[in-house]
Amino acid sequence: MQGQLTIVGQGLAGTCLAWRLWSRGKKFRLLHLGEGRSASAISAGLLTPVTGRSLNPSWRLSEFLDEALGFYREVEGVLGEQFFYEIPILRLFAGAEERRMFDRKHELLQPWTGAFLEGKDCPCEAPYGGVIWKGGGRLDTRRFLESSGIFFRDSGLLETGEVDLASGLEVEKPTIMCAGAAGLGSEPFGFLPERRAKGEILTVRIPGQPENRVLSRNGWMIPLGQGLFRVGSTYSWDDLTDSVTTSGRLQVENLVRSFTALSFETVEHVAGIRPIIRQSRPVIGSHPENENLFVFNGLGSKGVLYAPGVADRLAAFLCENREIEEDLNIDAFVG
Ligand SMILES: Cc1cc2nc3c(=O)[nH]c(=O)nc-3n(C[C@H](O)[C@H](O)[C@H](O)COP(=O)(O)OP(=O)(O)OC[C@H]3O[C@@H](n4cnc5c(N)ncnc54)[C@H](O)[C@@H]3O)c2cc1C
Repeated sequence: MQGQLTIVGQGLAGTCLAWRLWSRGKKFRLLHLGEGRSASAISAGLLTPVTGRSLNPSWRLSEFLDEALGFYREVEGVLGEQFFYEIPILRLFAGAEERRMFDRKHELLQPWTGAFLEGKDCPCEAPYGGVIWKGGGRLDTRRFLESSGIFFRDSGLLETGEVDLASGLEVEKPTIMCAGAAGLGSEPFGFLPERRAKGEILTVRIPGQPENRVLSRNGWMIPLGQGLFRVGSTYSWDDLTDSVTTSGRLQVENLVRSFTALSFETVEHVAGIRPIIRQSRPVIGSHPENENLFVFNGLGSKGVLYAPGVADRLAAFLCENREIEEDLNIDAFVG
């Protein structure tokens, strides 16, 4: 791809792509609405190898996990700051069936499984016990985006401003839409199926609560240090605004109570929209009607795991003309 590229969006997708182009020495400019205005900025940043009620390892996990960890270490090296924190994740079984499912899937889950804990050894009410997942952690997404933003702004590559996404089809220079939820459900990528989902998260202060691991069961509680924990998240498909709601707050406060009997204080309440196309499997490639228009979207609930590896594949396509793998390629949706 000749000439300067434009990336629209500085969430996880746009930021990871910017780093991948930067490390290839490719010219680009990065446009976004402004700091904090993205799902990525409010995300809990959790990277869990095994998620969901069906207890399946994430899609292409080994490959994307290695790439993600390598990438975050590399950017940390450039910026001289830590963003990714490895931390054990204690998955508490929600019921007898989930526990049986774990036993059935033992072999499949073995690479990600640490110690098994009986209920009496769990730090909260957990009659079915729990298991420690290995290999996960937390990305401080806010710091990662802010520090990357400062770096790119100081390098003259980042600008703040609103782009008319609907006019994307008219672009004449290579433009990559990394607009998250705003880039789904309407032109120019309105033909992609989507199931965007709103999520609400609380940050709570819990004096005395141990901070040595993430607790997970129908949601998660992640230690941030200094007695603070991020807890969430809700899922809703009807209201796609980023306004917080009382019902969302109450739902997450109940989740806190399921993890600890200690009293807590809510210090922050935020909401954002997950850009979901096919669960959390991202989509990249060029628009069928304009070969200068590209998309990187659909990170779903797993932006921390998939954004670095998928950004690398898109950068390789843009800079080295390397073919996009079938299971990531937008062509799968083009009739
Ligand atoms: C409540 C919640 C909790 C989550 N927790 C986790 C988690 O623990 N772990 C995990 O891996 N993932 C999590 N996610 C998912 C994760 O946040 C997403 O996968 C990821 O943020 C998507 O990144 P993105 O760059 O595609 O979109 P976004 O982060 O939304 O970025 C979109 C970018 O596009 C820009 N933009 C949009 N419209 C325009 C326009 N018109 N002009 C210019 N710029 C524009 C915005 O400014 C922004 O920079 C969570 C999401 C939510 C909502």
